[in-house]
Amino acid sequence: MTRTVLLTGGAGYIGSHTFVALVEAGYSVVIVDDFSNSKPSVLTRLGRLTGLNKVEAYEGSVLDDAFMERVFNAHEFDAVVHFAAKKAVGESVSYPVDYVETNVGGLTTLLRLMDAHDVRRLVFSSSATVYGDPDIIPIPESAPRSYTSPYAFTKLMSEQILEQAAAADPAWAFGILRYFNPVGAHPSGTIGEDPSDIPNNLMPYIAKVAAGELSHLNVFGDDYDTPDGTGVRDYVHVCDLAMGHVKSLDALMASNLGHTVNLGTGIGSSVFDMLQAYSRACGKTLPHVVTDRRDGDVPVLCAEVDRARELLGFEAKRTLDEMCASSWHWIQTGAKE
Ligand code: UDP
Repeated sequence: MTRTVLLTGGAGYIGSHTFVALVEAGYSVVIVDDFSNSKPSVLTRLGRLTGLNKVEAYEGSVLDDAFMERVFNAHEFDAVVHFAAKKAVGESVSYPVDYVETNVGGLTTLLRLMDAHDVRRLVFSSSATVYGDPDIIPIPESAPRSYTSPYAFTKLMSEQILEQAAAADPAWAFGILRYFNPVGAHPSGTIGEDPSDIPNNLMPYIAKVAAGELSHLNVFGDDYDTPDGTGVRDYVHVCDLAMGHVKSLDALMASNLGHTVNLGTGIGSSVFDMLQAYSRACGKTLPHVVTDRRDGDVPVLCAEVDRARELLGFEAKRTLDEMCASSWHWIQTGAKE
């Protein structure tokens, strides 16, 4: 029997890759997106990639009750995968109320509608940011949670709302997925990350240096207590991450038991590791300048990955070179279309 899934934020970076993975896994997927940080043309690309004649999609906001009610009335959803949210840490510091409204308000609107329509399974986009500045590396899911930005606060609060809802009503089954650093693009070059402004994150910034749109990478500090002094992160290929959502959904469908898992590789890479890997991918040495540390940055974030493997059978397999090569392929092809 084909299961139908509502995918909010399905035109976005991770959402679009997850759409492809869900369709390939046999799910029927309906997208809701307000295109506030994505383009409607992504839908055409998704049709091309999956071979679907029609990508079922609605333009609107998850905050819009009446709109969402119409979407829920038009389909018999078995589950929801919820991406639609704001995600820029710096912006959240300037607009904390907007972040709570969209990220937390979007989630509660969705939960109310799901409850009313008896849809009880939800996969939720959380983030390693809920670990704050962790004491233990690699970070187990049991590590204490905290927040260092309004964005992180919204993710932590959302996790807590889901935990309290599940405790109050065991019919709920939530898959809470804590992403580490998603990078790369679909190997076809058809979809990828497409920031319109100067990127805040490392990989899209390096990509613009490689493309000649920015002169050099600013390395935010080389005096951390790490092997080469630069910040270390757990970069995970977006296609592996997308598969993590399929595994999470499969598990919710099979058991109706919730889970909270890290999605990462368990491997830490420094800023210089990343710069070198991207230089290999694009075939030129990319210039950099070491600057001061960025406010709020922590030295090392790296996932403990055992729980995702044990509970979901999830393992991120793609290498740093594959992440950089797919990003560069996307920048040279799809992103220019
Ligand atoms: N970083 C950097 N220059 C940049 C952007 C990021 O040196 O232009 C560093 C940053 O300090 C961190 C790592 O790259 O150590 C990853 O940063 P990103 O913003 O991509 O992810 P996050 O900090 O949210 O994990």
